[in-house]
Amino acid sequence: MQNLSGIGMTSQRTRERLLGRLMDQGIQSMEVLDIMRSTPRHIFLDEALAHRAYEDVALPIGHNQTISQPYVVARMSEAVVKTGAIDKVLEIGTGCGYQTAVIARLARRVFTIERIKDLSERAKTNLRVLGLRNIEFKHDDGSLGWADRGPFDAIITTAAPRQVPIELLSQLADGGRLIIPVGGKDYQELKLICREGSQYTEQVLDEVRFVPLLMGQVQS
Ligand code: SAH
Repeated sequence: MQNLSGIGMTSQRTRERLLGRLMDQGIQSMEVLDIMRSTPRHIFLDEALAHRAYEDVALPIGHNQTISQPYVVARMSEAVVKTGAIDKVLEIGTGCGYQTAVIARLARRVFTIERIKDLSERAKTNLRVLGLRNIEFKHDDGSLGWADRGPFDAIITTAAPRQVPIELLSQLADGGRLIIPVGGKDYQELKLICREGSQYTEQVLDEVRFVPLLMGQVQS
């Protein structure tokens, strides 16, 4: 049984400090801030790193992958809910499931794809511990999206392609939004692409650094 309070209780001040940092960096949505406050990030990390869970940094989760930085999770989540309540969200790059946990409390249903089997399984366990049941998991290469579950009100990609995959654009609902880091290894732009009918508008939200979006799936 994982410890939901434990570190969470002893580091309440550290958690509040993180919230302050998110607000200082411009996160305004009270809904997002409340969810960030009540989502225990330490349960997503190995015990040896759990004491760093409430620092505003990405941390390793094995397989050369990372848990996203809280500020980036908050920023992407805020972009998802900007236009109000949302029904279906597709996430590409489940990782340990931290961003999934935040989005699952903002949307009615979440579909999430991860190419590394072990991480997908771990995320399932973590999200079960949190009691979140509105999530469907898939172990696959997510760069083609999840056509038979679409169209989606929002798609978030937590790994960076060099170019926006066309398939993701076509799986956006009318009025839907794609939030995606695009670029090379060391520098990417976090883009917000909005669909209105057959028109797509693009805006750059931030500079970010995500792991790359890779092709194919990994069976371990
Ligand atoms: N969302 C996570 C961050 C995970 S890091 C969090 O909140 O912490 C990005 C993840 O994307 C990694 O687990 C990586 O394996 C996965 N990934 C990379 N390319 C992918 C692809 N083509 N399809 C699905 N997942 C992919």
